[in-house]
Amino acid sequence: MDQIIIENLQVYAHHGVYQEENEKGQNFYINAIMETDTRNAGTLDELDLSTNYGEVCTFLNNYITGHIYKLIETVAEKTAEAVLLRFPLVRRITLEVRKPEAPIILPFESVSVKITRGWHRVYLSCGSNMGEKKAYLNGAVQALRADTKCRVLRVSDWIVTKPYGGVEQDDFLNGAIALETLYTPEMLLEKLHEIEYSHGRERKVHWGPRTLDLDILLYENCVMCTDDLTIPHVDMHNRRFVLEPLAQIAPYERHPLIGQTVVQMYEAIACKDIKSRSEEKRSVPKIYAKKVSLETAHEIYKTYMKTDFPPEEIKPFAVIEKMWKQDSYYVYAFYEDKAEDLDERADDSQDVLCAYAFLLADNKKRTLLLDYFAVCEDRRGEGYGSRALLLLREACADWNALLVEVENDELPDIEEETRHIRRRRIAFYTEAGCRMTDVRSLLWDVNYRIMVMPLMDEHAEECIVEKLCALYGGMYNKRELQKHFAILSE
Ligand code: ATP
Ligand code: CA
Ligand code: CA
Repeated sequence: MDQIIIENLQVYAHHGVYQEENEKGQNFYINAIMETDTRNAGTLDELDLSTNYGEVCTFLNNYITGHIYKLIETVAEKTAEAVLLRFPLVRRITLEVRKPEAPIILPFESVSVKITRGWHRVYLSCGSNMGEKKAYLNGAVQALRADTKCRVLRVSDWIVTKPYGGVEQDDFLNGAIALETLYTPEMLLEKLHEIEYSHGRERKVHWGPRTLDLDILLYENCVMCTDDLTIPHVDMHNRRFVLEPLAQIAPYERHPLIGQTVVQMYEAIACKDIKSRSEEKRSVPKIYAKKVSLETAHEIYKTYMKTDFPPEEIKPFAVIEKMWKQDSYYVYAFYEDKAEDLDERADDSQDVLCAYAFLLADNKKRTLLLDYFAVCEDRRGEGYGSRALLLLREACADWNALLVEVENDELPDIEEETRHIRRRRIAFYTEAGCRMTDVRSLLWDVNYRIMVMPLMDEHAEECIVEKLCALYGGMYNKRELQKHFAILSE
């Protein structure tokens, strides 16, 4: 962070333990290092975009002469806070109060107190499941806004969730709040308890019904555990009702102990939920994989691909056919397994298609690229996708690696919802054993990240660029490639 520095500002003031000091006064010298972002001001040469050090000096002088404290500790504490409240662009201040004329009978040069104070980024969760739930949550936000030592930055939607912890009670309304605060974690907890009580909170049953519950989820990168306070909140990564709203306002904030972002933690429990739900419903779906003929591939192409993929992503079948004839293209279909034993499967004309995978193959490097993969519309969200990928992995076990292109979820200019969908897709492939690489490609203007599923080759993550180029080199001619394909480096 950039700094604006004031050195040895002389202030004649009346602080001290002795009456004489309070009456007569003496010189104090102030050093202040203010952390702030000066880039905008510096680039545009515009004072309004920065913190005016002249004003800060006047403010320091007025504040320090306008109060009388016994201790320079207090002078430093109060003055630092006053500066942070008065100058909003200052994120942190290191303030030193020197008192070279202090009444000490031995020879000395100076005594001083030096402290650093600042705004801390905090995420709270809030919940209510009694009475006017929405009003209680809104009330909590208002109370925080009314507190000068808090700056509310973002508030999530309030979402309805089922109660947690096994106590019979009404549905919850939950949300998350991002704020900056001058409070320490302990002071903030005290403040939150005050707000809870002023909104009718009584503590009766743990995890029982309550008008308002405010918890500290994250406080900077702070990790602490005392009798009264554990940060990060000890169970946040297991709670959908915490992570879902938090993902709206702070998707990329990282848990300092687990190391995952909010979205990653959310995806992890969402995946678990989907899995356990689909397992509940019909245990693991029974399907089998079959490498199909070109005719069947064409059938699938005509019947399913048009609805499963946007038209601009569907390549002409002639391209697939050409590759097929060079033994560089395969299609696996996944059918519902109704047969009790294998003999009955002789005639599969009755079998119902559940999913399909189109694969581009590079026989030299023995790499595959998942060109198209889809679960048929009426089977989605029930575990068919994961099952099909597992079968595909088995079927391709004698290849070195399978590459997967996933649409880039890290682009700055995409909608949050799109980002969310892309992240879910990545989580899905991760679950199936794919690993994210740092390779990005641009193909017909679509920005992809490349994942890899290692098969025979344990070092499948190496030389991804070469593998990708070899695969595409088989499918497109040089001119097409030059025009429509690029590897994006960092
Ligand atoms: P949970 O913490 O599992 O969500 P709860 O919020 O229902 O449970 P409360 O009865 O509201 O539990 O709080 C019990 C105590 O938990 C509080 O008095 C507080 O001292 C302590 N506590 C520990 N860590 C935190 C935290 N990060 N945020 C809020 N309270 C905390
Ligand atoms: Ca809680
Ligand atoms: Ca609580």
